[in-house]
This record gives sequence, C-alpha cells and structure tokens, in this order.
Amino acid sequence: MNKLQMVDLKGQYEKIKDEVDKSIIEVVNSTAYINGPAVKQFQENLENYMGVKHVIPCANGTDALQISMMGLGLKPGDEVITVDFTFAATVEVIALLNLTPVLIDVDKDTFNIDLEKLKKAITPKTKAIVPVHLFGHVAQMEEIMEIAKAHNLFVIEDNAQAIGANYTFKNGTQQKAGTIGDVGATSFFPSKNLGAYGDGGAIFTNNDELAHTLRGVVNHGMYERYHHDVVGVNSRLDSIQAAILDIKLKHLDNFSSNRQNAARQYNEALSKSEHIEIPKTETHKACDNSKGICDTCDCHVFHQYTIKIKNGKRDELVNHFKEKNIPHGVYYPIPLHLQKAYKDERYDEKEFTITNKLVDEVISLPMHTELDKEQIDYITSEILKVVG
Ligand SMILES: *Cc1c(COP(=O)(O)O)cnc(C)c1O
Repeated sequence: MNKLQMVDLKGQYEKIKDEVDKSIIEVVNSTAYINGPAVKQFQENLENYMGVKHVIPCANGTDALQISMMGLGLKPGDEVITVDFTFAATVEVIALLNLTPVLIDVDKDTFNIDLEKLKKAITPKTKAIVPVHLFGHVAQMEEIMEIAKAHNLFVIEDNAQAIGANYTFKNGTQQKAGTIGDVGATSFFPSKNLGAYGDGGAIFTNNDELAHTLRGVVNHGMYERYHHDVVGVNSRLDSIQAAILDIKLKHLDNFSSNRQNAARQYNEALSKSEHIEIPKTETHKACDNSKGICDTCDCHVFHQYTIKIKNGKRDELVNHFKEKNIPHGVYYPIPLHLQKAYKDERYDEKEFTITNKLVDEVISLPMHTELDKEQIDYITSEILKVVG
C-alpha cells in the first residue's frame, strides 16, 4: 500500500512535474520575480475560471480577508458576524482591525453558518457577515445574501477551503463559491485545494470600484506611484507561485473530482456504521444529497473529509490512529469563543451548543488528490474496528 498521508503533495507533484518545473524555470530566467507577467496571466485565467470580474492576488488567505475588510471601509467598533467553528484566521483579522467579532454557532449537519442564529445576532452595529465554506462545502449563500440585503450588510466569503465549489441558486443558476458575496477571499497555502509551493492568496469581487480600492490597499495604499491615498499593506503573490498556480489551475476540476471520488468511497464504507455520521451536503434544494454527495452541482470539494463519531469513541479512534500511524486531524479542537484571544463576556454558553459538541465528535481523515481505494479500504476498516 502507498504511504498514508493527510495530504500527498509529492504524489501530485510527480504527475505535473514537467509542466511545473518548466514554469518555474521560465520565471527564474525572466527575473520578473515580483508582479511579473506570470502574476497577470494567472490573475486573468483565475478570473475566467471563477467567472468573476476581478481577482486581486495577494500574499496569503489571511491577508485576503484583512484587505477585503479594509477595502470595504469597515471601522473600529463595527460588528462582524462569523462562525465559532473555523480556522482562527477568520476571526483574527476582524479583531486585528479593531472591528468587533461576533461569533455564532454553526449548523450541526453542514458545519456552516446557522441562518437562524445569524438573524438573531444582527444589531444596529452589524456591518458585515463572514460565512466560511468549511471543509470545502458552500454555505447557504442565497439565504445569506437575502439576510444581508434586508439589513444592508456586506458579505465577505471566506473561501479558503472551497475553491472550485459551485453554488446553485433556487432558479438553477450556478456561481462559484467566493464570487457571490460583495467580496471573497481565498488561500493558496500548499495543502489547500489549489495550493502553491509556498504562500499565496487572492480576493474576488464583481464590484469595479471595490476592486480598484483593493488593488491600492494591497500595494501600500498607492494608486499612483508614491501617492499614498489610503493606509495599505504590502501583500503580493510572487511570480514563481503564480506560475505554479497557473499550471495547477488547469488541473483543479480534476483535483476536485478525485477528492469527491475518495469521499464517495469513504461514504460507502462508513455509512455501514450507525455510530458514524458522514458529511452532509444539505445546503439547497437543487442538491441530490441522497448519497451524502451532491453529484449534480459540485457544492462540496472536500478540502477535508470530516465525520462525526456519535458514540463517544472519537478519542479512542484518535489513539488507535496514532498507534497505527494513520494520519488524521481534529479540525477544530477548541471553539473560537473559548480561545483566550477571542473570549468575550457577552457570549452565552447556551448559544454554542453545536460547536461545543462538535469539538468532541469530529475527526478528519486523509483527503487529497492521490488517495486510492486500497488506502481508503484500510483506513475505513480500522475505523469500523474501533467505532463499531
Ligand atoms: C487556511 C485558511 C485561512 C488562511 O489562509 P492562509 O493562506 O493560511 O493565511 C483562512 N480561513 C480559513 C477557513 C482557512 O482554512
């Protein structure tokens, strides 16, 4: 059996090595290391792929979120609602800009933002909502956009885990995750679905004026050389990373379907256990989610394959995996509202019943583009041995 890994970046590289190596050497020879033609080319190809008017490349996904909030002109004291169950970067940038993070519980089935709790959390100070498409599964964007419109709020999609995923509106039209809100932020961290060989990120928007503002913010607030109109940051995608990403972008849909195939095989084996809950893709009516995977719309691109262990044996499984050297992850082990940095006396524990429980139930299994049936059969049989 091939060596089990949480993410197999080497195996993926071997398959595209010739193309990738050539693109790197081209940039090295060109000496256009910063903002070279490779960045422009990737930007345009990504705009086409995403079906969005503007892609603004930047240095990483955390910056993409921060710059989005700066570009929207959010001010200290403005409340920004996001989820309690996500990677810390989402809430970190809100706090860093002296905005007020308002963390809310997630849906128990999809791990995404809970619409009822979202509505309840809106106050006159609320200015923005940051839905996170967790583990690669698009949040309920149609409803979120309706709520935002009714309350005049910005929507900033944290699309770090769901690049390539589609969202289907009730009328059947589709849009890529990350291009539906006022602005979307993504990450090209190596293990993400579209991963660079280093750091990288991008911002998406269909708003011309906002795109112009964002292009200045990423570049020291400069719109004309040495004229600094707003306070900006220095956040660039370097040319070598852009060249690599441009090659990988051509393979992204294949990468996504490899992940979905692996998820399908996991689902089939694990649905045999009554103690295991396989991922659910119940976000919208158009989804045929009878098998736990939407085959019609690609609304889940499985950045992570995360199951819930319902009989209290999650930690036993973690220990078993450690003994057997089976890679795994607990994303996320502590709800954000209980993290020292983000504690807030206004939070009421009763409002976080789902995340408080999820942290004891979830476990993420190896998930990547190179996973094969033999590996999945082995991993799932070890799980069933422990969980029953
Ligand atoms: C990875 C990630 C980020 C941050 O991206 P970086 O490129 O590591 O800065 C933000 N939000 C979520 C949900 C992520 O998974």
